[in-house]
Amino acid sequence: MTVLAYVGLGSNLEDPTAQLARAVAELASLPGTTLQAQSPFYASSPVGPQDQPDFVNGAVQLATDLSPHQLLDHLQAIEQAHGRERLRHWGPRTLDLDLLLYGNDIIHDKRLTVPHAELANRDFVLQPLLDLNPELALPDGRRLDSLRRQCPNNQLRLLPPRASSH
Ligand code: ATP
Ligand code: CA
Ligand code: CA
Repeated sequence: MTVLAYVGLGSNLEDPTAQLARAVAELASLPGTTLQAQSPFYASSPVGPQDQPDFVNGAVQLATDLSPHQLLDHLQAIEQAHGRERLRHWGPRTLDLDLLLYGNDIIHDKRLTVPHAELANRDFVLQPLLDLNPELALPDGRRLDSLRRQCPNNQLRLLPPRASSH
């Protein structure tokens, strides 16, 4: 069965915008998966430790035949291929890929919480999702646009579209 899944991307090391652009291409080539849309990228102030560079964030809409856990396996493999090291909680990273939404599924197990646990508290997640689809809502019916109005401010700055490489 094909499901609409939303993946959040973040990076604050080693040319973050290029990390995200490469990750979008890698997500587009996952098995059983089509990239349907990609949000603009935003710069944002870090959550947690402040002694680290600003982040670049974005989100994509995928149509996928992968199960949520298969998709997570692929997301983690892509993070590893980008040289991700887990040094400290909410610390700097070359690439972070979070499964934000998987259809209207609600998942709570050892590896996965979907919708992503912090989604409602993060403007750098909500805004790119709203760029993809202004009508999006959580499985419990809460609309993302109203969550966006209530969530903390991480000083989002819309980045100019990336020049395509000719
Ligand atoms: P946060 O979850 O607050 O954004 P983080 O992205 O820095 O923090 P990670 O270190 O990347 O956290 O991931 C820790 C674990 O979170 C992963 O090993 C994974 O099993 C689990 N996890 C739970 N739900 C999700 C999800 N929806 N998407 C990605 N990972 C998830
Ligand atoms: Ca994250
Ligand atoms: Ca993560």
